[in-house]
Amino acid sequence: MKTLTPKAFASSAFRIVPLPTEVAEEARQVADSGAPDHAVIKVDSATGYPCRHCLRWAQPGERVILFPYTSIPPGHAYSETGPIFVHAQPCERYGATGEYPPDFRNGRAFRAYDADYNIIDAQIVNENNPEAEIEKLFQNPKTEFVDARSVTRGCFTFRILRA
Ligand SMILES: [Zn+2]
Repeated sequence: MKTLTPKAFASSAFRIVPLPTEVAEEARQVADSGAPDHAVIKVDSATGYPCRHCLRWAQPGERVILFPYTSIPPGHAYSETGPIFVHAQPCERYGATGEYPPDFRNGRAFRAYDADYNIIDAQIVNENNPEAEIEKLFQNPKTEFVDARSVTRGCFTFRILRA
């Protein structure tokens, strides 16, 4: 007998992966220790400091930690470590993993990687329908994951996996 897939499941072909909580917690501890590569910054713009853990813009008056994060591990041609922000205070990890984060529909680029961490496709995100663009990138069977990055500064924002 054929099982019908509920539409709620069918509509979400991807899974948003925010920064792991343990990485955010470690960054806060290292910043507290005064490490020079973990800068504590007071936010002065409503759309300049994306927190990779709660996937929201940090708001003016809040503090964030700026630190280097290895989004693509060493040992590959596309290995990459770059600067990211997390809230200095504990925040709730983004939980709506079947939904594209509403704060980041603008100003992102997608990079599709294969299982060997090679970039195999890339595009600037169309804010009107990033969901369709993610689905299109995953139509390539070689796409293992997609990284969303800042289109201007290039910084890693979050990862997207197949649902
Ligand atoms: Zn946060």
